Amino acid sequence: EFEYSPAPEARTVVDIKPSYGLFVNGEFVDGNGRSFKTVSPSTEEVLAEIAEADEADVDAAVKAARRAYTRVWSKMSGAERGKYLFRIARILQERAREFAVLESIDNGKPIKESRDVDVPLAAAHFFYYAGWADKLEYAGLGPAPQPLGVAGQVIPWNFPLLMLAWKIAPALACGNTVVLKPAETTPLTALLFAEVCQQADLPPGVVNIVTGAGETGRAVVGHPDVDKVAFTGSTEVGKAIARTVAGSRKKVTLELGGKGANIVFDDAPVDQAVEGIVNGIFFNQGHVCCAGSRLLVQESVADDVLTRLKRRMSTLRVGDPLDKNTDVGAINSAEQLAKIRELSEIGEADGAGRWSVECELPSTGYWFAPTIFTGVTQAHRIAREEIFGPVLSVITFRTPKEAVEKANNTPFGLSAGVWSDKGSRILWTASQLRAGVVWSNTFNKFDPASPFGGYKESGYGREGGRHGLEAYLR
Ligand code: NAD
Repeated sequence: EFEYSPAPEARTVVDIKPSYGLFVNGEFVDGNGRSFKTVSPSTEEVLAEIAEADEADVDAAVKAARRAYTRVWSKMSGAERGKYLFRIARILQERAREFAVLESIDNGKPIKESRDVDVPLAAAHFFYYAGWADKLEYAGLGPAPQPLGVAGQVIPWNFPLLMLAWKIAPALACGNTVVLKPAETTPLTALLFAEVCQQADLPPGVVNIVTGAGETGRAVVGHPDVDKVAFTGSTEVGKAIARTVAGSRKKVTLELGGKGANIVFDDAPVDQAVEGIVNGIFFNQGHVCCAGSRLLVQESVADDVLTRLKRRMSTLRVGDPLDKNTDVGAINSAEQLAKIRELSEIGEADGAGRWSVECELPSTGYWFAPTIFTGVTQAHRIAREEIFGPVLSVITFRTPKEAVEKANNTPFGLSAGVWSDKGSRILWTASQLRAGVVWSNTFNKFDPASPFGGYKESGYGREGGRHGLEAYLR
């Protein structure tokens, strides 16, 4: 436990360099000379100039990963690989404050979330998979599972360090080497993680970080010497990746979008449910693939739930991500803000009732007040499309059967929540839901030992837990 200084003093705990190269074969290198800027979404300040990897740069990274795989990493005992992972986990803990502040600056998320969720969970993933490295015969694939080789990994901007940990920790534990591409709006914690790899004396080439946008991602995914592709991001790009790798030797896992239903029955503990609804959609500004972005509330308690929800929402503090009292930070980018605004306008045009928290938003940066839409029907686009922002669509139901039908009436299937006092009702509902995770009387709880992943257009494959090993072994 440590106290953060209020902004802008917190800024001084991190040393952001004016420019960053690519991390290839254990060193920072210049690459082709092209670059792009990463911007703080809460201030619009340019934070740093970041190298933009092209095909040749990605090729150099894949070659380094292949060499490290063949000569060092796949030959090492699991126990030895585990030691490196434990070391990385401990360094992440030691440098937690730096990571948390940097993540909040680059991503816009509240410091209390990066401090209490992103960074500790990232370390926990490395601890968890470090423990698996010498026990792979229990991974469920038979007595002598083998690593796949070089993994090409592409991640989104909503949990930059945590998504990196979800990808890198199991891959390395299983004996693979990696080329990872962070999202273009949030590259900084991945580059700080590269320093951690150096600090842990990880053999050069085991982890390579190539920065850039979609083009760079395409080069990673399409590289002929990549054996395994792991992608987290939008369903649209996930589909394009599946097409790219179809027919190749590459094994693929896709963690894509969601439109999670948070189902509140009439016997639910109401105040607890309201907390869960708020956490479900306003945590991380709603930039959460498994967000509870649809509230399905039983008609008889809808008025009461909505009254209390609005009261609770009015206490949310929106603003400076580095202030430890902030509940809702900045929207990650101008593009994402435009998308949230557009879908909200469509919600209004379609006839849903809009209610937003009245709050003063900073004049620079990208902000969106927590918002709910009532009277939403299945026909509305805001009921079907992922908004990926602090916007909740409220839908009512009368019977448990109707709740399940509505919850499943979506192309996605990543998460759901069930709020009820009756264990039997919770178990029945969970068994009917086509979602990778169903929380009961809670929401957005994560643990490295628990597998995570989607049904339908939310993707395939599981990350986390023993199941997460299967993606990196044959
Ligand atoms: P995105 O698909 O636009 O980008 C994700 C990553 O893919 C970025 O690094 C991007 O540069 C890269 N990319 C873009 N085009 C590419 C291409 N053609 N080939 C290869 N790489 C490419 O998604 P985003 O906007 O960064 O993230 C938000 C999305 O991620 C949401 O839909 C969210 O639900 C999803 N998400 C899913 C999970 C999950 O576990 N299921 C977790 C977090 C986020």
